[in-house]
Amino acid sequence: MSKKVISFHYPLTNNSGEVIDSSKGHSPLVFMEGSQQNIPGLEKELLLLKKGDQKKIAVKAAEGYGERDNKFIISVPKDKFPPDVVVGDEFQNSEDEHSMPFKVIAVNEGYVELDANHPLAGVDLTFDVEITDIREASAEELTHGHVHGEGGHHH
Ligand code: ZN
Repeated sequence: MSKKVISFHYPLTNNSGEVIDSSKGHSPLVFMEGSQQNIPGLEKELLLLKKGDQKKIAVKAAEGYGERDNKFIISVPKDKFPPDVVVGDEFQNSEDEHSMPFKVIAVNEGYVELDANHPLAGVDLTFDVEITDIREASAEELTHGHVHGEGGHHH
């Protein structure tokens, strides 16, 4: 089965039109079809485009980084934190360095409330994409499940 490797430039804006991320000034983003490197709502649309195409792609939160979920808001006894803990501080789960950082959203009398939702959860996203390249994945890339070369793995 063949898969596409797509390179694209983008600015990403949120519901209020603020730019929250952009590939401007960097290399284009490169991903391989079906490798779960990309959010589903964006990948689906990118696969319909061809090299040189420009398109505004709106991705609802549910097809982006998901809806905010209250189960990711947790309360932890305050004595587990440094005494100067304030709203906005971020803490990493020490057992899993790749987990999302927990953000302090409230400091109360005896406990601290933490939010581990993705920062873009619940946000509707708009990508203004320009496809800079589309090619077939090589046999080696298909075996490895990731892109090699520019923008990908080097090994
Ligand atoms: Zn590889």
